[in-house]
Amino acid sequence: MKMDGIFGYMQKYKHENLFLCQDEKWDFKAVIAVHSTILGPAAGGTRMWQYDSEMAAVEDALRLSRGMTYKYAAAGVNMGGGKAVLIADPKRKDREVLFRTLGRFIDRLGGKFYTGEDVGTTLEDMEYIHMETPYVITLPQYLGGVGPISPLTAFGVIQGMRACAQAVFGSDDLQGMTVAVQGVGSVGSSLVEQLIQIRARVVVADIDAEKVNALADRFAVEKASPEEIYDVACEIFAPCALGAIINDETLPRLKCKIVCGAANNQLAEERHGDALAQMGILYGPDYIVNAGGAIYDGDRLIGGVNLERGRQKVARIYQTTERVILLAKSRGIPTYRAADLMAEERIEALRHLKRYQA
Ligand code: NAD
Repeated sequence: MKMDGIFGYMQKYKHENLFLCQDEKWDFKAVIAVHSTILGPAAGGTRMWQYDSEMAAVEDALRLSRGMTYKYAAAGVNMGGGKAVLIADPKRKDREVLFRTLGRFIDRLGGKFYTGEDVGTTLEDMEYIHMETPYVITLPQYLGGVGPISPLTAFGVIQGMRACAQAVFGSDDLQGMTVAVQGVGSVGSSLVEQLIQIRARVVVADIDAEKVNALADRFAVEKASPEEIYDVACEIFAPCALGAIINDETLPRLKCKIVCGAANNQLAEERHGDALAQMGILYGPDYIVNAGGAIYDGDRLIGGVNLERGRQKVARIYQTTERVILLAKSRGIPTYRAADLMAEERIEALRHLKRYQA
């Protein structure tokens, strides 16, 4: 995806706003992109990263904010999509001043944008932002938040897997099925634990051997090297590490019937989603099946923290995945495209309703 000018890009993808924020005293540079507030206030994590160029940071914020709109829309959550990007080394130590500065900028938006954790940021960073603004969606429990969201994200991924298994094998019982999990960080390790509880056979890989060994000490999992994980014969391949791992190089190696995992932006390009469908591999679209944490976080904004209600809402990922699969079948399109259509249809319907607002 290449940008031919910022406004052209924003017009093409219907972005509402882009905010550039700076404070030279702290070498603070941030981009906040608001893609859509049609369904509700925009929300999305703060990514802390060193980019090759300022344009790359802007592009990332715009792209990721649009992804959040689709995630919330398809999940039935009344939030819009946004994203903050802090252009800085994620290992920087002066976090209080950086994140409180970001908090001030977010506060100025008056509730148009809520933020949370993302790559390079932690719950502690969210506490700093929260010192300056109430518009923080992911918070520790003592500040009224839900705390870590990874277990609910993993629980949602399992609902997606079950719906995919029902479509492919005629049963949504994962017992005895082999699941190859790539990446056993926050979400991946919780996913493994929950899969073991429901008696799936689990093969794990991570570039961090300590994480794999720690899991193998606790559960009866099989280990694979990070390179081998694509070649594991399995019912389900679950990417839970980085994006763009479904690509020209990995596609021919897959020996699974389903791809369903937590990682964001799994398809290197859309054509890789077409290729999966042609190969007869069912793809559980990433933002549909990994929305559990976002659903749970969004729910507490409406009704306060309630794990049981949150789990019930996250469990609906099963039905959402089912609807995506049915739509893909009925229209003869790949599931990633069906997911986009479902999200776009909801946004368009509610854009129309918004016209009647007082
Ligand atoms: P994390 O950083 O805790 O875990 C990622 C793991 O992947 C790490 O253990 C890392 O060592 C491993 N890894 C990196 N490259 C690898 C490779 N090539 N092969 C094997 N392992 C590799 O992150 P996380 O919070 O568990 O998130 C995982 C993915 O899920 C990310 O793409 C994230 O954007 C997405 N996601 C997370 C959440 C959430 O609730 N945390 C929600 C939605 C989506």
